Amino acid sequence: MIPRRRFLMGSLASAAFAAPAGFVRGAPVAFSADPFTLGVASGCPRQDRIILWTRLAPQPLDGGGMWDAPVDVEWQVAEDEAFSRIASRGVVRTTAGLAHSVHAEATGLRPDRLYWYRFRAGPALSPVGRTRTAPAESARPFRFAFASCQQYEQGYFAAYRDMAARDLDLVVHLGDYIYEKSWGSHHVRQHGVGIPTTLEEFRNRYALYKSDHDLQAAHAAFPWLSVWDDHEVMDDYANDRSYTVRDPAQFLKIRAAAYQAYYEHMPLPPSARPRGADATIYEHYRFGDMLDVLLLDDRQYRSASACVGSGRPTWVSDCAGRTDETRTMLGEKQEQWLDARLRESRGRWTIVAQQTLMAQDKRDGDDGPHFWMDGWDGYPNARRRLLDSLVAHRRRNPIVIGGDRHAFFAADLKHDLARPDGPTIATEFVGTSISSDGPSESSVRKALAENPHLAYARGDRRGYATVELDARHCTVGFEALDDVKDARSTVRRLTTFVVEDGAPGAKTA
Ligand code: FE
Ligand code: CA
Repeated sequence: MIPRRRFLMGSLASAAFAAPAGFVRGAPVAFSADPFTLGVASGCPRQDRIILWTRLAPQPLDGGGMWDAPVDVEWQVAEDEAFSRIASRGVVRTTAGLAHSVHAEATGLRPDRLYWYRFRAGPALSPVGRTRTAPAESARPFRFAFASCQQYEQGYFAAYRDMAARDLDLVVHLGDYIYEKSWGSHHVRQHGVGIPTTLEEFRNRYALYKSDHDLQAAHAAFPWLSVWDDHEVMDDYANDRSYTVRDPAQFLKIRAAAYQAYYEHMPLPPSARPRGADATIYEHYRFGDMLDVLLLDDRQYRSASACVGSGRPTWVSDCAGRTDETRTMLGEKQEQWLDARLRESRGRWTIVAQQTLMAQDKRDGDDGPHFWMDGWDGYPNARRRLLDSLVAHRRRNPIVIGGDRHAFFAADLKHDLARPDGPTIATEFVGTSISSDGPSESSVRKALAENPHLAYARGDRRGYATVELDARHCTVGFEALDDVKDARSTVRRLTTFVVEDGAPGAKTA
């Protein structure tokens, strides 16, 4: 599907890429090597527009290898793979301040249509990407995949090769796109350097991950929506708090560098560009009248972790602070935004795309219940307010998707999670990890034994989830790699769930 990389010098460059009239040239462009080493990507599909991404990086693992001056990058979107029918084109001036990344908004497109796109910088031509605009209505099923948690050292990204070969409208990435730290054993490859804290170090970490050809293939095949979780910055951070860097001012400097590098490497709109340590990445996407996707950021605005002091928010026994009414997961502004969007969304299916498991995962300990304080269980009133919103606005078919846990979960979300026999108001699915190590067998067994609303949990397999939506069903497949340590591993479906229109709850297909 994706043509092999082409690096054309001088007059070999495609005539179709002749500079348009009025084209303002940046610095003279002469690359020592192919600048398109990190591939191409598209994202944030709307009916008439889409974001196109690439980055000029002839030496990707060593700061990029670009000079300080700006470079103009031309982009084209075509209706055909041969680029004979151009639908949209433009020029973006890339700068060293954004690591010579491109975030071009291609406009004037038609809904629900395949497009091909590419970039040119001087004599260098990028690989071709394929993308698809959002539909205006819903005459056909809508298919997407969701993924998260791709620790580079712990396994290969073979799941993305499988994903890239599918027929999908969209990929949703729910965070831990990079990992800042190393742990575990039996690594198949290495970060090679320590924990990044500066912008240059974060750029190099993204470049390392994005040098993976299977990941590049999944980006080049479909438009993505993406949100970060903790490891794009630092393990289990909450807003300006980290259990490893305890000074909030010092931590926010790291967060600013990390957010900046995330923006530079993802197909995000210019509106998501960070200002210092702040960046707005939560957003609402519509896919005809079939689907609304509400993409949440539950890291940047959350209250400090409960019951752990300044320690790591892990499994700890309950404390009074956890149920403080003022605790927030989304922050007040995003919470109000979400409530308003739930009120006005009209899709048959509502996907709430967030980072982690929303369902309660209580573990009985000798001293009473234990909770994982980094997840929604550490923020029970914030979760209750979100579920209240779903009920108050009578959202039709709410489906929550998440990552973070490195395990597959299916759950029936109850309005009152303490009453497992109460009505189910939403259905939840958590994809496993692309490559990150999973939880122990006993942990997963406990989760299932002690939480009756959890319909399924499995932590020993890596992979991702697929979702197919039509007028009557939401069908979710848990797609699992045979062996994450094998770069050529095949993927097989572990199990399939169906949610019927108007009847929340995960049923085994
Ligand atoms: Fe993770
Ligand atoms: Ca995480």
